[in-house]
Amino acid sequence: MILDQQKEKDLKSRSTRGILERLKNGIVQGAEGYVFELERRGYIKAGPYVPEVVLDFPEAVKELHREFLRAGSEVMVALTYYAHREKLKDVGRENDLELMNRQAVRLANEVAREGDALVAGNICNTWAYDPHSAKESARIVQAMYEEQLAWAVEEGIDFVISETNDYLGEALIALKVIKQLKLPAMLTLASVQQSLTRDGYDYIEACKILADHGADIVGLNCDRGPETMLPIIENIRSAVGCYVAAQPVPYKTNTQYPTFELLRTSSGEQAFPLLLEPFLCNRFEMAEFARKAQIMGVDYVGICCGGAPHYVRAMAEALGRTVPASKYSPAMELHPVLGAQIEEKHKEFLADWKR
Ligand SMILES: [Zn+2]
Repeated sequence: MILDQQKEKDLKSRSTRGILERLKNGIVQGAEGYVFELERRGYIKAGPYVPEVVLDFPEAVKELHREFLRAGSEVMVALTYYAHREKLKDVGRENDLELMNRQAVRLANEVAREGDALVAGNICNTWAYDPHSAKESARIVQAMYEEQLAWAVEEGIDFVISETNDYLGEALIALKVIKQLKLPAMLTLASVQQSLTRDGYDYIEACKILADHGADIVGLNCDRGPETMLPIIENIRSAVGCYVAAQPVPYKTNTQYPTFELLRTSSGEQAFPLLLEPFLCNRFEMAEFARKAQIMGVDYVGICCGGAPHYVRAMAEALGRTVPASKYSPAMELHPVLGAQIEEKHKEFLADWKR
């Protein structure tokens, strides 16, 4: 009863327009890649990738939320990626499990209220799911999701993003738990393999099954850059009637190397996850992705590992939006050297055009 009252109070102070209402009216822009970016900033250890930063440097998490908010993200995703029992055990912090989860949602809420953003609870691949002992491992996974989301709901969330799902089986457990909480559910698959989930479902078929089981938003996140994610997204778009999400990594994957895990440096080393810089997309390429996704009918347009605020702003502007950080968007015509060159080029262009 007390919990219900608390929930009601939280709901009242939340954004007045929920995720489904926003999607009905057009594209919702999201932004992720918190773990990668906070690792680059020196607050998360590569390897275990556990978001200890939530407790150790909460201000760093809030700052990144704020940067994404200013750049146009309408959703503050609570940094609970890998903040689950299995992963915290790896770094000896299982006693911090509840506190880390609650704090992550609180931080997302604090910044969401600085704008008009939504807060998404976040659950992900657990590495505990085993399709060979599906029943037994499902119980463990379900318990992990239930505890994480119970804390998230108490702290206040608008919907749940279950992401980087390697197994359809695991995604379905997440969906069941989210639906029990009566929250809108966004389920996105990892696409590490050529065309199948790790339990052998074609990505498109898997999204269809999730949609048939009541998912509100389905799609893909992580692993693939725009070039190799969009063709699959296009097929998902035609296969499902629900909303579709695309959150690629900003890396130049291609038909030869369709995922960022497969990219190789010039000396043949695996570039993932610490040598990926040479493969980064530029902001204009991510803007192009946003436009293509819009034309394709994608409803939730975001970015995953490697994401940073300059991409998010370029994507927002490509979608026709002016966001707080647009105040400082490039104005190269004002550059002392490049500005004159731009002016010159413009004159040449006009002369050509008149000819
Ligand atoms: Zn990612």
